[in-house]
Amino acid sequence: MLKHEDHIFTNLNGYNSYKLQDAKSRGSWTDTKKIIERGSNWIINEIRLSDLRGRGGAGFPTGLKWSFIPEKSNLPKYLVVNADESEPGTCKDRDIIRNEPHKLIEGCLLSGYAIGANICYIYIRGEFYNEAKILQNAIDEAYENGLIGKNSSKSNWNFDIFLHRGAGAYIAGEETAMLESLEGKKAQPRLKPPFPAIVGLYGCPTIINNVETIAVIPDILKRGSAWFSKLGKPNNTGSKIFCISGHVNKPCNVEEELGIPLKVLIEKYAGGVDGGWNNLLAVIPGGSSVPLIPKKICDDINMDFDSLEKANSALGTAGVIVMNKSTDLLKAIARISRFYKKESCGQCTPCREGAGWMWRVMERFSKGIGTIDEINTLYEVSKEVEGHTICALGDAAAWPIQGLIKNFRPLIEQTIKKNNEKKKVA
Ligand code: SF4
Repeated sequence: MLKHEDHIFTNLNGYNSYKLQDAKSRGSWTDTKKIIERGSNWIINEIRLSDLRGRGGAGFPTGLKWSFIPEKSNLPKYLVVNADESEPGTCKDRDIIRNEPHKLIEGCLLSGYAIGANICYIYIRGEFYNEAKILQNAIDEAYENGLIGKNSSKSNWNFDIFLHRGAGAYIAGEETAMLESLEGKKAQPRLKPPFPAIVGLYGCPTIINNVETIAVIPDILKRGSAWFSKLGKPNNTGSKIFCISGHVNKPCNVEEELGIPLKVLIEKYAGGVDGGWNNLLAVIPGGSSVPLIPKKICDDINMDFDSLEKANSALGTAGVIVMNKSTDLLKAIARISRFYKKESCGQCTPCREGAGWMWRVMERFSKGIGTIDEINTLYEVSKEVEGHTICALGDAAAWPIQGLIKNFRPLIEQTIKKNNEKKKVA
């Protein structure tokens, strides 16, 4: 359990103002110059030693990602911050932007300096109008006070931040689609390699990190990598913001240590499952794209990257969607399938055709229309989509269905059988 003094986001719930003076009283913008004076290699090394893994979903080690930036390149380097936050069930980056924007801005400066970038783009989802206003206000405050801009924080480093509002496509949250969108093109993912660290924005070396990842950088550098890596567990270090929604008594965002038991997270912070723990049916633990886990796994699972991977799911964005026994699971997964079908950019055939096909089958299944054999066909098709596309949206369309079939196959069979019996009687 995270101790009070180990919290990074002390204003996550917005009880105090986001403005600069209050942010300073919470520790933002202290020692920024001193940290920069220690040099970019020291910063990258500290982040490597902290074992911080990206908080956007994939969990890639942040320090390692930064180290891919070619030191000797004469091209400009860019930092891009992903504030698109489009994954259903996830609303953590919005709270950071609303209530702790200076943590993000200071993190941008320190991260940008570490990778040699003088320019940072924060790509925010277009619908987050109020959040964009707050963030722009905070950026303006930072400029007015000499914290960023020319000779940022008196560090001799010039650093500009541009806030870019997207147009609301889910796929723009995929890092290379985001670069395309920033360049004024349609948000369609690029083939990799080359990876953005080598060929990114405008063909230049670029690091793309999630809001939460960048916002924790100042605290890691101020309190030390050893402090951060002691939180959580090996390979799953630090604290993380969990977003708990669905059938709970008190939906909330909470910062806790990675590895916290799911049951504790739900009971302690979200007021428990609506109807009690025994009324739990399943949980989607990391945003709608990850496979659900049934109650018997929820009883003992810990919320970290490795534990959830072992349970054939994923931590993803840590958007925890709780479903009690009142949930029509087939309808719920069919609805999720519709979302991914609609958000497919259409570039690759398995995703474009497969996501729509899987959705249509799920719609039928939710009404009991189909045959038992078709469950296998659906599973096989989902396996053909998974891993055979340009970006992870193909996986996102396949995983919820795989999770349903693996864990709730008898429910699909029952629904089909019941409907067939009804037809016979009629
Ligand atoms: Fe587009 Fe889907 Fe292919 Fe991703 S997987 S590039 S969203 S068609």
